[in-house]
Amino acid sequence: MRSVWSETVSPPSFPRLEKDVSVDVAVIGGGMAGVLCAALLRERGLECAVLEADRVGGGITANTTAVLSVQTETLNAERIRKQGFEAAKLLLDAERDAIGRFRAHAEKIPCELTVLPALTYSLCDAEKMKAEVNALRSLGLDATFTTDTPLPFPVAGAAQMPGTAQFHPLKFLYGMTNGLQIYEQTKVLRLDGTTAVTERARVNAKKIVVATHFPFINRHGLYFLKMYQKRSFVIACKGAKPLGCTIMDEAEDGVYLRSAGEFLLIGGGDRRPGKKGCGFDVPREFRQRYYPQAKEVRAWGNQDCVTLDDLPYIGPYRSGGKDVFVMTGFGGCGMTGSMIGASVLADELTGQKNRCAKLFDPSRRMKPLPLLRNGGEAVKDLLALRRPRCSHMGCALRWNPEEKSWDCPCHGSRFRANGRIIDNPATRGIQTKR
Ligand SMILES: Cc1cc2nc3c(=O)[nH]c(=O)nc-3n(C[C@H](O)[C@H](O)[C@H](O)COP(=O)(O)OP(=O)(O)OC[C@H]3O[C@@H](n4cnc5c(N)ncnc54)[C@H](O)[C@@H]3O)c2cc1C
Repeated sequence: MRSVWSETVSPPSFPRLEKDVSVDVAVIGGGMAGVLCAALLRERGLECAVLEADRVGGGITANTTAVLSVQTETLNAERIRKQGFEAAKLLLDAERDAIGRFRAHAEKIPCELTVLPALTYSLCDAEKMKAEVNALRSLGLDATFTTDTPLPFPVAGAAQMPGTAQFHPLKFLYGMTNGLQIYEQTKVLRLDGTTAVTERARVNAKKIVVATHFPFINRHGLYFLKMYQKRSFVIACKGAKPLGCTIMDEAEDGVYLRSAGEFLLIGGGDRRPGKKGCGFDVPREFRQRYYPQAKEVRAWGNQDCVTLDDLPYIGPYRSGGKDVFVMTGFGGCGMTGSMIGASVLADELTGQKNRCAKLFDPSRRMKPLPLLRNGGEAVKDLLALRRPRCSHMGCALRWNPEEKSWDCPCHGSRFRANGRIIDNPATRGIQTKR
């Protein structure tokens, strides 16, 4: 099940790494995060190599919905309450700055970038949305409260945010590869210090950036403990009027929508991979109820890494480390997140101070309760007796009949029916017998 993006643009191709090379920075992973990081480092005069296991843009980035918004899953009013005004302001400013950078690059890259407002609505709680508008305004964004939306049903209220955008992620990504030293079909097997070891050759680097979606080295950083994955389900329909904005329901089990040319994209049904419930039924029922005239023409699932405080992990891979860096945990906002991550790491790797470095530090303290809860989820499936087992940490996998895959409820790795790997953190396939 492919997204509408891969069908509407031809990918560039890059050679495999066949012999050893030396560079300033080896960036591992050729998704939005890795490519933007390499591009920004190159702008600062550093020589980078991007090492991609498969094809550039073939991972999570290929199946995104590519909205450039300032709205994460946590409403700003809640973030101010939980993490303080300073943290919320830093994040919002970083998101707005990231959107500005996308817009500047898009002037040279035809990628259908359109500036249009973003709406976050509530079906039943007008006060909540008024509080969100007040929070956004206190943080410096000129948000407004409205009940007037292009949705075919009434809402209690919505926060309307100006200056946000949507684009074609692969057209943009491929444009950004221009001038970069990229190796495809070049999987990094391990790191020896700052040397990336691949199947055929080695990349000797002064610094390493791991941008592999879920970090692939388990030994450091405890990412398998302080992160999980969330899978979401998107349908593309034809025959609905363009929305003129991007839309998100604030409810945890709500949908999100955007138009893309002739398509209306409806996403939702979020769940941890390997868990029961939700899935494609949610966007499909929404379409049937509110857009009965529109015809579903495509459907796909995709997943992103979620951190325990809904802020990404960007910075040294492990506490005190100075040579290996990571960007991950974008929580469904990894377009803007990738640009923010690339800017933060471009500063860190060139010895400049970045205002957000501390906020996104992967070694920041986590509250014990969410850590225990997340660990507990994994332990349940680690102790379960089912087969097959995940090649990452041995958790019991569950069959996903909708997508015909074996999914890991602990950390989100996924495998085809024949055992071939689809999604990391697992790095190799499994033995299956059904
Ligand atoms: C349904 C859905 C909708 C979304 N919509 C939005 C949205 O509207 N706006 C938004 O901002 N964000 C959105 N996101 C989030 C966003 O799509 C992701 O956060 C982002 O694409 C992640 O990019 P990435 O570069 O980190 O990962 P990827 O694109 O997966 O790139 C990682 C790359 O690393 C490679 N790799 C892995 N291991 C190795 C290795 N050992 N050696 C070499 N290469 C390796 C992989 O092959 C892959 O190409 C959405 C996410 C989902 C699930």
